Amino acid sequence: MQTRVELKNIRSSYDTIVIGAGPAGCATAACFAARGASVLLVESNPKAARRFAGEWIHPEGVRILSNSGLLEGLREGFRGHGFVVCPNDGLGPIRLDYPAGASGLACEHETFVTHLRRRVVESSRVDYVEGVRAQPADGRVVRLLVRGEEAKLVRAERVVVASGRSSRHVDALRRANREQVSISLMAGLVITNSELPLDGYGHVIAGGPGPVLAYRISKDRIRLCLDVPNAIRPVGNAREWIWKSFAEVLPASLRNGVRDGLPRASLSWAVNGFRPRCYQTDSQVALVGDAAGVSHPLTAMGITMSLLDAEALAEAPTLSDYAARRSSQSYIPELLSNAIYQAFVRNDAGSLAIRESIFRTWRSSRAHRSRTMNLLGAASTSRVNFVRAFSRVALRAGAGAFRTEPSLVAELAGWLRWPCASLHPQRDVMRARSLSWADPKRWARSGSFLTRVSIEEEQHAN
Ligand SMILES: Cc1cc2nc3c(=O)[nH]c(=O)nc-3n(C[C@H](O)[C@H](O)[C@H](O)COP(=O)(O)OP(=O)(O)OC[C@H]3O[C@@H](n4cnc5c(N)ncnc54)[C@H](O)[C@@H]3O)c2cc1C
Repeated sequence: MQTRVELKNIRSSYDTIVIGAGPAGCATAACFAARGASVLLVESNPKAARRFAGEWIHPEGVRILSNSGLLEGLREGFRGHGFVVCPNDGLGPIRLDYPAGASGLACEHETFVTHLRRRVVESSRVDYVEGVRAQPADGRVVRLLVRGEEAKLVRAERVVVASGRSSRHVDALRRANREQVSISLMAGLVITNSELPLDGYGHVIAGGPGPVLAYRISKDRIRLCLDVPNAIRPVGNAREWIWKSFAEVLPASLRNGVRDGLPRASLSWAVNGFRPRCYQTDSQVALVGDAAGVSHPLTAMGITMSLLDAEALAEAPTLSDYAARRSSQSYIPELLSNAIYQAFVRNDAGSLAIRESIFRTWRSSRAHRSRTMNLLGAASTSRVNFVRAFSRVALRAGAGAFRTEPSLVAELAGWLRWPCASLHPQRDVMRARSLSWADPKRWARSGSFLTRVSIEEEQHAN
């Protein structure tokens, strides 16, 4: 079995250099190696995998992991059959199964990434170096830095940036003015001695200041991700504030576990944002995973999108083919993620009508549930399906509002932005993507709380 290599032993050229060994980088390295390429995979800070980040993978992501052999030997992790939405409206939970009996995977982030790294370095075609920072000089040359000093220049036919959402050194992202919009904070908490209302499903719990995502990560541990939208200003002690704000909406089977776990367990914080996806730089560097774009984690798409990027890049004949294919395929998941998050957190009358209509439509139509899950899991990227699903919800909400409160109809028109955006001609799509996060200015930042949490997050990652 191969292990990581010393910097002095790496070659001066490879077919592919991948910068960053998170989910996107490991999958990219594995997909290229499977096609016979020699790969250099560079990771600057292996401990970054300890941070609070993605743990739920949709079936499309699981398919790629299985095909590339990356799941082999993974002993932890749970199969996920879909989601249970708890609307907190007194009408009971809604079960959304992945179509055709497909299943996803939930696994603690660090366990998952460590396993991917272990599997990928077993390939004789992949050289893996750790503790080395890489910077693309152009589409063919990468500088390797140790403690800020240039240690080596390496060449490759293809340079891939998989360095995550803080890939600020990537020139094209800065030039295209695609800074990340901050959306919310998320508190991560692991509890024991509790049960999910329906084991084997991710639970999305509405009714709190922001939605809660809960899923099992091991036999005796459940992860809760508690979203705090930027418009909310938590006051006082963060743990007490969380308990007061979310306790009432939590299902009974989780509530005691949270009450007992909150004072003792460590809380991890993450900042969530949105940056529309863009797949190549002007200097012909390929972007994959969060380096390509970021969405709110409520729809748990980040890792699946990363894996789809990796597979598509390794298969594409040219970089522009890759960029065109993934730009088109990732547009609908991105719109869906923004629309669903907004539907769960906004409390103006139009948004409440949309939220109620989403729940009603899911409850009444199996076809609609299945369409949503196909779109959510990126198994379908059909614009027609998205327009059909979303317009139906908006029209139902509009019909209800027209009878009770005609002034609401104008407010609801704003919600048609998402289905309309999906119909933009391809040449205008990049502009539409940047605008698909609505009214970011309305989400005031809570300065002191945000700053404190960012510092905690950074310290944790280091
Ligand atoms: C709170 C939270 C919850 C989430 N939940 C989910 C979920 O349930 N499901 C889901 O699919 N997604 C989720 N996501 C998103 C998911 O975590 C990301 O989409 C995913 O980790 C992206 O993988 P990546 O490899 O692109 O980036 P990363 O995971 O950030 O990995 C990038 C790697 O590159 C390294 N690196 C950075 N710069 C350099 C450099 N210059 N040289 C060498 N190495 C470098 C870093 O150290 C890091 O190891 C969540 C995100 C957050 C914040």
